[in-house]
Amino acid sequence: MAKPVRIAIIPGDGVGGEVMSEALPCLDWARSRGRSMETISLPYGASHYLATGETLPEAAFAQLRDRCDAVLFGAVGDSRIPDGRHAEEILLRLRQGLELTVNYRPCRPLMPGHGPDLDIEVFRENTEGPYCLQGSTEPGRAVDLAIHTEPAIRRLLQAAFQRAATRSRPLTLAHKANVLKHGHGLWVRVFEDLRREHPGVAARAMHADALLCALVQDPTAFGVIAADNYLGDLISDLCAAYLGGMGVAPSISWAPHRPFRCSALAEPVHGSAPDIAGKELANPVGMILSTALLFRHLGWKAEADALEGAVKDALSDGAKTPDLGGTLTTAAMGRAIRDRLPS
Ligand code: ATP
Repeated sequence: MAKPVRIAIIPGDGVGGEVMSEALPCLDWARSRGRSMETISLPYGASHYLATGETLPEAAFAQLRDRCDAVLFGAVGDSRIPDGRHAEEILLRLRQGLELTVNYRPCRPLMPGHGPDLDIEVFRENTEGPYCLQGSTEPGRAVDLAIHTEPAIRRLLQAAFQRAATRSRPLTLAHKANVLKHGHGLWVRVFEDLRREHPGVAARAMHADALLCALVQDPTAFGVIAADNYLGDLISDLCAAYLGGMGVAPSISWAPHRPFRCSALAEPVHGSAPDIAGKELANPVGMILSTALLFRHLGWKAEADALEGAVKDALSDGAKTPDLGGTLTTAAMGRAIRDRLPS
């Protein structure tokens, strides 16, 4: 019998736990259809940090890296820890330590007639750029370092080119190499290399400001968008707005070069949303669609298709949480989706 897939579950903080509670029964549903899976629940987040001083202990990270296949993650961030230290150490440690270079954020309409008929897939570099938290603050002067390395850029762009080629979609690189001459200059050079290797892909590099302008004017003109960590963050949040907001946008990150057993992490695009946490207002759709992306990553296509279909059917039938103008609670929305899954 095939070895069970082992998934680490980290609900985290705020709405993270609430939306995770709606994703876990989807794992049980996949299991009921014969998918062999073990889950391990990990407590890391604000409450654990405040109680123990631990963020993500090295031994726990090593276990997860070497003995799990993937992570299903909720969100981290808590006002009791204003400098966000625990969130940085947990999420950045996972992204950087597992070398999850590629962050994939699909953006396709979930409800018929809701917004433009777009089909955008954002490939965001996930471990470098200005989000590497290196820099300094002195009185009246602050420095944030942005680190860009060729292996990570190449891995991210290769994944984006492959996707554009497979789906016959145009590929656009977002950059600001006109001012960020070093880092983004390297991005453009690697992009041009890969463009020569993929003559069948309609690929262009665009200044990010012009790209954002064009994206607002006509999002249907875009296919795959590749960007560094910072620009990818901004562009994918803008794309999420076309779908209905932060509550519905999914993501998955992976390590194409598979340096460790644990090579993927699925999480909603949104954070811990402290403004709505504990009120049953959180939309679980982003979390559930991230679970579908994880199923797809594991090769469980039928389950991924069925879960995405159930989300679309629920929304089309009018099941909505308040962020989408409805009245359902987080749990009721989760049930509405699960009720539409095949047995
Ligand atoms: P963090 O610091 O953890 O990233 P944040 O509040 O800065 O938290 P988000 O958590 O992404 O950022 O929240 C941004 C906005 O989107 C908030 O107004 C929040 O209420 C809303 N939001 C986020 N997640 C959801 C969700 N699942 N359902 C509905 N609204 C959400």
